Amino acid sequence: MEASPEIRTILDRALDETALSREDSLRLLSVDINSSDCGAIMAAANRLTHRHTDSHGTIYSQIGINIWPCPENCNFCYLGRKHGIVTSNYEMPPGEVVEKAIAFERDGADEIYLMTTANYPVERFIEIGQEVRRALQPHMELIANIGDFKLPTAYRLLDAGFTGVYHVYRFREGIDTDIEPERRRATFKAIKEAGLNLRYCIEPVGPEHSDDEIVEQMMLARGFGAEILSVMRRIPVPGTPNQWSGELTELEIARIVAVARLTLGRQIRQMGVHEPSLFSLRAGAHRICAEVGMNPRDLKIDTTAGRGLSVKDCENLLRDAGFSHNRRQASPVPSLIERA
Ligand code: SF4
Repeated sequence: MEASPEIRTILDRALDETALSREDSLRLLSVDINSSDCGAIMAAANRLTHRHTDSHGTIYSQIGINIWPCPENCNFCYLGRKHGIVTSNYEMPPGEVVEKAIAFERDGADEIYLMTTANYPVERFIEIGQEVRRALQPHMELIANIGDFKLPTAYRLLDAGFTGVYHVYRFREGIDTDIEPERRRATFKAIKEAGLNLRYCIEPVGPEHSDDEIVEQMMLARGFGAEILSVMRRIPVPGTPNQWSGELTELEIARIVAVARLTLGRQIRQMGVHEPSLFSLRAGAHRICAEVGMNPRDLKIDTTAGRGLSVKDCENLLRDAGFSHNRRQASPVPSLIERA
């Protein structure tokens, strides 16, 4: 079945790598999920991604370091202090963080993220980051996923060996979170000024968000200069204010992935989906994540026992979706005695 002439015209522009307007993106997002228009949109995004990546998938990996009640009180995250779910502090020992980073590298991950709650001390985070950096091969990308910070901290992250930062202006920032939106925006400025590479994500998206809000997120990604973009589904974690808010289906997430991929065009080098989904990997995504430790969407202390996938799981998904994944040449795992 053919796409309608109006959708075909927008898709032809996107495949010519002409930037789409807000109105174009809204029109694409409005199509029925079971329509031939939707099939054509996903196919076009998939084609663009295969063209840009030479059909190569990327696996990044994330280590969630601590489980503490967090004063930023995001409605969608079980760690928010006001939810009363987390009543004691847990923290992964630094040696274990290093072990897990080495294991991810050995298993074939392309990038390693270290994640903490927003109230984790920056000093301690930087020390752990330095230890992890020393244990990894020099080419391995090391990404910080922490709370807001200013320019001096951005430079310190760079000095510690971090190559980039995951930072997002989330849906309804300042309404569904206790974070002052301007503080959030100021962190983007610090990231850019320091020369850290930005990982951006349209997150966390649920049925409560309108198409206008979703497209506004795409425009923000454009404005912040994101070259690596993902889409992440909001999970109705029990005990959080979003417990009864439902969730988007994988197909609905795939439609957003496709529209985001087409909207950002040649600006983005990589397009991801979080959590990994085969539908989205056929709709413009080629970048997915393996996870261990704390996960704001999962009540397990170690998400490997819950929602988190392994590098192997991710490789299988990429292969099923038609992407190759060339494992990096990882360093042999030194014994504990050698590293001590
Ligand atoms: S999402 Fe991050 S900032 Fe928000 S409550 Fe959870 S840990 Fe804190």
